[in-house]
Amino acid sequence: MNIQPEQPLSLGSSPYPDQSIGKPTGFPDAVYYEPKALAFPLGKQLKRTYAELPWIEIENHNNIPEMRKSPNSAFPKLKRHLIIGVRKTHKYVPNHKVSDYLVPYTSSGCSAMCLYCYLVCHYNKCAYLRLFVNREDMLDRLIRHSDKADSPMTYEIGSNSDLVLENTVTGNLPWTIERFAQDGRGFITFPTKFSLVEPLLPLHHCGKTVFRMSLNPEEIIRKTEFGTAPLVSRIKALNEMCKSGYPVGIIIAPVILLPDWKNIYGRFLELLSDELSNDVKESSFIEIILMTYSYVQNAINTDAFPNAVTLYNREHMTGRGKGKYRYREPVRSEAEVFLRDKLSKTLGCMEILYVV
Ligand code: SF4
Repeated sequence: MNIQPEQPLSLGSSPYPDQSIGKPTGFPDAVYYEPKALAFPLGKQLKRTYAELPWIEIENHNNIPEMRKSPNSAFPKLKRHLIIGVRKTHKYVPNHKVSDYLVPYTSSGCSAMCLYCYLVCHYNKCAYLRLFVNREDMLDRLIRHSDKADSPMTYEIGSNSDLVLENTVTGNLPWTIERFAQDGRGFITFPTKFSLVEPLLPLHHCGKTVFRMSLNPEEIIRKTEFGTAPLVSRIKALNEMCKSGYPVGIIIAPVILLPDWKNIYGRFLELLSDELSNDVKESSFIEIILMTYSYVQNAINTDAFPNAVTLYNREHMTGRGKGKYRYREPVRSEAEVFLRDKLSKTLGCMEILYVV
């Protein structure tokens, strides 16, 4: 089976109609900055790169009143802004999935607009891309932590943003990957929904960076992951990263149970079986995460994307505290059984790490 980019579906009011390159167009349109950020080399570099844009001084990247007070309908407009600051919190959170620790790193938020983005739960409509210019400080801490650990650890550095997208603005990833390869112990890892991996392919990574590609059926991407890369280019990027010697994994996430989900995900897994390289199939693992949703996301999506697909399903979902929803257990269980069965027939050689 050949994979061809599908025709774009109607995206309602998405401001990113061209998803073919996996990078939002027209971003950024303005830069909001903490003055102290300009004392750092990366701050100076960004000032030169975006010299022609409006630069607006802010006191604190965590609280920009004009954005906080904007209506939900302004969400797509806010996502076009770039925020630059200095990261002050460096708390490592123990994790027990693919990594041992979640590490705050060089960015939070993102310029894409996935309807289910968990960052909206944390930042509400202020889930725009914030860059932290004190990258030396953050990577030095990480390397020191890896040195002191009892055994080699895996550090998730991409849980707050999409580092491949961020890299198109900062160039931070090659610097991070090669410096960790040289001085760090254990592994770093990050997931992405973007395909712009060319700068990463020739790096000396020493196998210490685990690259994880987040995949979903093209129909789901078009309807819910505005501003991210199409499936066809994500698969290509994953194959290329594996060919370049990176340890790689696949995240099927979030699984969204739209009407006809069995056909949608069934066709998707057959397509992966056809298009993933043999190296990926033989060496990588699979994580599966079913969608959770929240009252906050629903409120923003309703105002910002009135024509978009509705993700909240009263019949299939139930509350799980703090305004969050998840699929009811019988529905979740049916999806897990279906996916495991289908995967055993299509990609049976790949290990499923977990289904949550
Ligand atoms: S790509 Fe990731 S971080 Fe960006 S909007 Fe989508 S889910 Fe959120």
